[in-house]
Parts: sequence; C-alpha cells; structure tokens
Amino acid sequence: MKPFLFVTDLDHTLVGNDQALVELSKILSQHRQDYGTKIVYATGRSPVLYRELQVEQNLIEPDALVCSVGTEIYLNGSDHPDTGWSDILAPGWNRELVFSAAKSFSELTPQPDSEQRPFKVSFFVKQELADKILPEIETKLQKYALNIKLIYSSGIDLDIVPLSSDKGQAMQFLRQKWKFAAEQTVVCGDSGNDIALFAVGNERGIIVGNARAELLQWHTEYPNDYRYLAQGFCAGGILEGLHYFGFLE
Ligand SMILES: [Mg+2]
Repeated sequence: MKPFLFVTDLDHTLVGNDQALVELSKILSQHRQDYGTKIVYATGRSPVLYRELQVEQNLIEPDALVCSVGTEIYLNGSDHPDTGWSDILAPGWNRELVFSAAKSFSELTPQPDSEQRPFKVSFFVKQELADKILPEIETKLQKYALNIKLIYSSGIDLDIVPLSSDKGQAMQFLRQKWKFAAEQTVVCGDSGNDIALFAVGNERGIIVGNARAELLQWHTEYPNDYRYLAQGFCAGGILEGLHYFGFLE
C-alpha cells in the first residue's frame, strides 16, 4: 500500500458515527505508522472548539490541523499557526474594516469571541435571509477593495475570510509541502464550507451519505469522476470511499 494524504472535515463528516469513527481511527493510525500516510483535520472550528471535540471524541492527533475554515494551519501539534500560511493570507486583509462594515447589517449576529480569528470574521445568519443579504454584504465590502470572500455553511454560519483562504487552498498548501500527488490525496466533507476541498483540484473526494443539501446540490451541478458519493454516514461513508478509491485494501 502507498501513503496517502487524508484530509477530512470534522463535524458530521469524521465525527457523528461513533462505531465507524473508532474503526476508521484505528485503520488510519496503522496506515500512518506502516506507510507514512498523513492525517489532516480541516474544520470550521477555532482551536478552542477543536480541542473540546478532540477530547470529547478521543480523536487521534493529526499531522496538521486546519482551523477556522482554512485560515489557520497548525503542524505536528504546535500551538502556533504556521507563518508560511499566514504570510499568504495577510495581503489585502483588514479584519477591523471587514467587521465594522459587516456588522451594520442587522440580519447578522456576531459569533462568539472564540470564533473571531485573526483571518476570519464570523456571523450567524439565518438561511431564509442568506440569499438576499449575502450579495448585499459582498457589494458593500467590495467598495473597500479588500481581498476577501464570503463562505456560507450549514444554514447558519457566515465566515468572511481572505480571498486566498479556504479549506481547499490550505489543503493544497499542505499537499505541496509534503509532496503528495493529487491522486494520492483524498478529501472528505458534508457541508458548504467543504466545497472548497472538492472544487480546488483533482484530489479524490468523498461526500458522506449524510451530506447537506447545499453540498449535494453543488455536486449535482459540477459532477466529477474523482468524487464519490457514499451511502454510509460520517466515518462509515469515509471508510466506504477509501476502499472505493483503493487507498485501503
Ligand atoms: Mg461538517
């Protein structure tokens, strides 16, 4: 077997099917030990909320942790975000300006302080308001000539981040750093902020069986042979996909 780069979202992708998670964790740890496979978690959570989940679910230590929808990368358990990645995000980013411009929209509720990050400004916005309000926010922010983009996910989370940042671009940064080919890389997700993982290149993709409508709709609009829609839920769907692509025997 060959090493592969395994990149997965956490909530409702890796986590959410306890029995399958135990099995998958065991298989991945062994594969890492035997073949040098690398494990990456790519989550919308901040480091604080990640730690809570890690303890709660007894998650194995990843080789890299991508937090806050791709805006922070922590290598080998470090407490400090990788500066190589921060340097890529910094040009054209101004978090104070983004926050003050966006908070004037009454439809937006700021997320807790722990989720406000150096390269991410986050709000809650209800699904029924999102279609109308997101283009308006985008138009307003464009006036400031910032390099930013909006990511809407799970029918509630609005993240405003640097243009050069999302889970997909963070994944590719790691893939190139560790020299994994796209065909030896697999990405897994369930919701809107995972689209970036699937859309960025030719990496193999696993959409778990419990994926949200926003991701399934995108998958239907942009089908791709490199993407597998699993039947199983969460880690069960991931195991199914890893076998489908031949990463596991
Ligand atoms: Mg998720």
